[in-house]
Amino acid sequence: MNLQSLLLASALLPSAATPTQAPVADPPKVCDSCDEWNQPQAPFKLHGRSYYVGPHGLSAVLIQTNAGLILLDGGLPQSAPLIEGNIRSLGFKVEDIRLIVNSHAHYDHAGGIARLQRDSGATVAASASGAAALQSGMPTPDDPQFGKDGKDGSFPKVSAVRVVKDKEEVRVGDTAITAHLTPGHTPGSTTWTWKSCEGGSCVDLVYADSLTAVALDGFRFTGDKSHKDVSETFKRSIATVEALPCDLMLSTHPSASGLFERLKRRETAPAPDPLIDKQACAAYAANARKNLESRLQTERSGATK
Ligand SMILES: [Zn+2]
Repeated sequence: MNLQSLLLASALLPSAATPTQAPVADPPKVCDSCDEWNQPQAPFKLHGRSYYVGPHGLSAVLIQTNAGLILLDGGLPQSAPLIEGNIRSLGFKVEDIRLIVNSHAHYDHAGGIARLQRDSGATVAASASGAAALQSGMPTPDDPQFGKDGKDGSFPKVSAVRVVKDKEEVRVGDTAITAHLTPGHTPGSTTWTWKSCEGGSCVDLVYADSLTAVALDGFRFTGDKSHKDVSETFKRSIATVEALPCDLMLSTHPSASGLFERLKRRETAPAPDPLIDKQACAAYAANARKNLESRLQTERSGATK
């Protein structure tokens, strides 16, 4: 899709907000870690025109282009006002968000997207499975964390989600971000990459989706009566992330890639930038592979039903 069609799609969204409307809040999600994840965090520059705008425990990334803003992920429903505040404190306008994309459709990364979409009128884009989950406000039934009662994982529904394919580029103005489908943690999991240039040098940024093999009781990555074996697909996703050109990697929970330790080092030793780490994707993938192998071993031993 080119910029014109993207902007057109955005203009056609029925939910586009007018500046005079007061923002409508979605009910906050209650969970064991929700309060901890949603601790406020001052926004900061990752690299070039890419900024961290999420709360302390849930990543959200803002990219400034010459034709509006791109936002990756929306945190919890109650993260949306924090993210909007962070965007404003950087001097940007929420109404200038043209595109919102999602890593995976769980309430802690997709919960704030409905409000961010309402407040900005942005186009929301996700993988086919991710789009289905976003539009139903619920993980898909083949999700390892799909609740038995179907209710635990719910989040505010997102309307009119544009589907992106593997390796598809989505462009806003002078900036293109690329979707890499990395199913495993969820069937719709997507890792996003883009180039960031500053001071004559360009780096590869990776917003890596979760690669943790977490499941509710009864789900087997090695397959059961209700779904096929997804372990090989999961392994391929890990290999995909491992092979990405990767200078600066950020994970959906910033702690999983040591973001704040790196940020602290940046205060005292800014050069070379501690956030730049060419090994970060490989290390993230190696950890995920270990985690998956141990999960598969448990399943083979019959410890999970
Ligand atoms: Zn998740």
